[in-house]
Amino acid sequence: MKLGRAAVLGGGPGGLYAARLLKLAQPDCVVDVYEQDAPQTTFGFGVGLAAGTQQNLRTADPGSLADILDHSQPHEMSLRVGDAVARMPNDSLRAIGRTTLLNVLQRHAIAAGTRLHHGQRVDADSVDADLIIAADGVSSAVRDRYAADFGTQISVGDGLYLWCGTDFALPMALFMPVTAAAGTFVTHAYPYAADRSTFLIETDEQTWRAAGFDVTTDALAGGPADASDEVSLRFLEKTFADPLQGHALIGNRTRWLRFRTVHCERWHRGNVVLLGDAAHTAHYSIGSGTKLAMEDAMALVAALAEQHTLPDALSRYEAARRPAVQHLQAVAARSQRWWDTFPGRLGLPVNQLLVSYMTRAGKVPLTRFAESTPHVVRAALASYAPGALPDDRAELPSGEDLINFVIAQPLRRAGTTYPHRTSRPPGTIAEVDFTDTDPWGPKADDALARLEDAVGSGATAIRISGPGRRDDLLNRLNLGERLRGHGLPVIIRGSRQYLPDLAAGLVAGRADLIEVD
Ligand SMILES: Cc1cc2nc3c(=O)[nH]c(=O)nc-3n(C[C@H](O)[C@H](O)[C@H](O)COP(=O)(O)OP(=O)(O)OC[C@H]3O[C@@H](n4cnc5c(N)ncnc54)[C@H](O)[C@@H]3O)c2cc1C
Repeated sequence: MKLGRAAVLGGGPGGLYAARLLKLAQPDCVVDVYEQDAPQTTFGFGVGLAAGTQQNLRTADPGSLADILDHSQPHEMSLRVGDAVARMPNDSLRAIGRTTLLNVLQRHAIAAGTRLHHGQRVDADSVDADLIIAADGVSSAVRDRYAADFGTQISVGDGLYLWCGTDFALPMALFMPVTAAAGTFVTHAYPYAADRSTFLIETDEQTWRAAGFDVTTDALAGGPADASDEVSLRFLEKTFADPLQGHALIGNRTRWLRFRTVHCERWHRGNVVLLGDAAHTAHYSIGSGTKLAMEDAMALVAALAEQHTLPDALSRYEAARRPAVQHLQAVAARSQRWWDTFPGRLGLPVNQLLVSYMTRAGKVPLTRFAESTPHVVRAALASYAPGALPDDRAELPSGEDLINFVIAQPLRRAGTTYPHRTSRPPGTIAEVDFTDTDPWGPKADDALARLEDAVGSGATAIRISGPGRRDDLLNRLNLGERLRGHGLPVIIRGSRQYLPDLAAGLVAGRADLIEVD
């Protein structure tokens, strides 16, 4: 369908990209972008762009992608705990400064013929256009105003994070926990320019309060909107002095936040459509917010080209995007929980911890990780089953052989040796039938409490059973990780078709033994 006039509210990545693609597809349409901030005043540091995102952007608009890549910084990944480091080479991962990305997208939007109006905060009701694209971010006023129509639900994360940066390029991306007197802080840091790196730092509420950051957060509440929490920055600068190599942490409207996950039952209402963070968010630990916003823009413009009426086009857009968004939100929810509970895993050897990270959301199979990063999986197997791979020259099994290899390893626990990971323990097994969807929620806490009794009355192992779907198995594996703290072997029961998940769970420290149906 042809539009006469489109208004885009919000000049973030989603809004600017939608404006450019729309103008390229419909040169006769007048496209206006309204951005409340002046140019160059955006907040934020770097934004990660994974290989799949780059491929999608290349398909939609090779010109702007080339420009984005020209301004981006490649990086590998690493996980460091104390002095132990696990490295993950990656030749396609890149990051770009948010300001730089917006400059590039602004240039391309203007080059396509759109009109950018900076310094204008606009309300959907005050705009006269055939289509109003509400790309006004996670705090979308458009969405909030019609929250009942959009069926908006916002859930707030337990953990706290802040987003800051430093003035040098880290040699590679770094996940690193540091335990201070107050508790554990973890950074997700990555270079995004020759002289800049992002430091996202997160912690749990107890640590945050113990460090006094509830007080610094409250003190900022009534002050200027662009102020940063300098007390926290100076504290964290000392905490992360080692990876910072003596550099300072730089703030930019930096303050402690809790992540807000936005779900909307509907993404359009009349001629107004939600796009990007306004419609949905996914936890930052999967680095997908910008990707989702820009992919929404592609789908919206494609749906407008395919359909003859605006209602059909907006329904088509939503139908096309919703499955991918829901999938990523589910992955992000698991990832968020993994990070929220991260300090509990610090006892794992670093390479097993990296396997746990990679398999945290059930998205990356152990076999694929072994193909891309064999040295990490080899080292993880060496600590999982000492002696099983006698030296670096011993061949690392692949595919199904790797799964079978993991399961064939013996387990030595509390004086008992189990010949392989499907061995049956002797004695009384404490049974948990877990059907809930949240392995860290109150029902899981109840299951844990009930087990205390069973363990006290002489059980020799714990077995967790439950429904047959893969999601349920992933939940059992997460619960298994919690229960392993008891010291008894934890057996996870699951269907044969999910053997790869069970094997990954063994190496990642979520199970000791498995029982296959
Ligand atoms: C800590 C953190 C780390 C992140 N890391 C990554 C990462 O590594 N990779 C990644 O892909 N994503 C990351 N993201 C997410 C990413 O920043 C967002 O998901 C992405 O910017 C969403 O784009 P958007 O265009 O939908 O919204 P936004 O980028 O939020 O843009 C919305 C724009 O609308 C403007 N606006 C709001 N209301 C109005 C109005 N009424 N009128 C005019 N203008 C208005 C705002 O000023 C803003 O410029 C991260 C986010 C956070 C919080």
